[in-house]
Amino acid sequence: MKVLVVNCGSSSLKYQVFDMTDESVLAKGLVDRVGIPGTTLKHEPAGKDDVLIKEDMPDHTEAMKMVLNVLVNPEYGCIGDMSEIGAVGHRVVHGGEEFAYSVVIDDKVKKVIRDCFDLAPLHNPPNLMGIEACQTLMPNVNHVAVFDTAFHQTMAPANFVYALPYDVYTQYKVRRYGFHGTSHFYVSHRAAKLLGKYYGFCKIITLHLGNGASMAAIKDGKVISTSMGLTPLEGLVMGTRSGDIDPAIVFFLMEKLGMDANEANSYFNKKSGLLGLSGVSNDLRDVLEAADAGNERAKLALDVYCNAIKGYIGKYIAMLNGCDCLVFTAGVGENAIDVREHICKDMDNLGIKMDSKKNKVRGKEIDVATEDSKVRIFIIPTNEELVIARDTFNLSK
Ligand code: ADP
Repeated sequence: MKVLVVNCGSSSLKYQVFDMTDESVLAKGLVDRVGIPGTTLKHEPAGKDDVLIKEDMPDHTEAMKMVLNVLVNPEYGCIGDMSEIGAVGHRVVHGGEEFAYSVVIDDKVKKVIRDCFDLAPLHNPPNLMGIEACQTLMPNVNHVAVFDTAFHQTMAPANFVYALPYDVYTQYKVRRYGFHGTSHFYVSHRAAKLLGKYYGFCKIITLHLGNGASMAAIKDGKVISTSMGLTPLEGLVMGTRSGDIDPAIVFFLMEKLGMDANEANSYFNKKSGLLGLSGVSNDLRDVLEAADAGNERAKLALDVYCNAIKGYIGKYIAMLNGCDCLVFTAGVGENAIDVREHICKDMDNLGIKMDSKKNKVRGKEIDVATEDSKVRIFIIPTNEELVIARDTFNLSK
């Protein structure tokens, strides 16, 4: 069976086509600026040249139509006919408390995705738009939702409720959910393989360090804690998000800067983090470059970024009562040699010893701990699309 994986953002649509007989990727691509003048579709078919199409697409249904045309194009397509696509997997950011696993999408599932609009206003509406566009164009195949929150649903109440009046949990579902679950799931399973241990007996700390960043502590196959919370704002320092701060800073700055709730939301989500602190960029590469050139604020931003991660490693080792391995993944985790080095420096007391020579590597699955390190340090490139394709295939066989 061939499976189409779709990930819709507010103005973007990413896709991949998998042949599930060998899990190979037949093609992938990105439609950018959906609904904004200047739409582009970049299509990357396996073994053929990339194709760039520039044509304005007013909405996700039009963008999806264009993608389907590209997939069957005799010259650069990857399938002969649309009927070869047996199922479609959709990335959905928020599944609330309803979904601990992936599910075949029906009206009830769509209602839950809609009910979670409040909790993920930037993500769930475009995710649902993508689902509805695909259902309109491919009404006869299974559509499966794979949730970013699902893997974290194993957390115990003691690790997911906030110390607020309990009513806000029962009434408004204010609690820790966590995100990037598909990535934490994938790399933690790979880590168990590399450890040569049964997944259900491992203690794993996963570090998904991309533009957004989160960590998870996984014990006996279950997430026991994760750094993102009700929303992706909590936890680590990110490209433009502050991560953990004293909540009183919000009221203080709302008053000082005259911000309303919407403006404050944008301030802490879009103007903070590496960008706000360094004044250089939200992209870690730019911040590293500026720090190398002697920019003091960039250096400070990197120290704050790494210290937040170190803090969570300590917390999670305490919660797990030890740890078999750390797993670095996503753009920064897979590629930023100096950042990994900085994070793992002076952690030998916790059994973490990095081999600096082995660590000089990018984007490769490898153990970069010293021989005598009690804790293994893995770099594992993530593959969220493959998890979505597998779940979709398994629910559609
Ligand atoms: P997302 O999927 O969350 O948008 P990615 O996982 O692609 O993000 O990660 C993006 C981040 O990875 C950016 O901050 C970028 O600077 C960083 N990154 C990518 N390549 C490198 C590299 N070679 N060295 C350092 N950082 C890198």
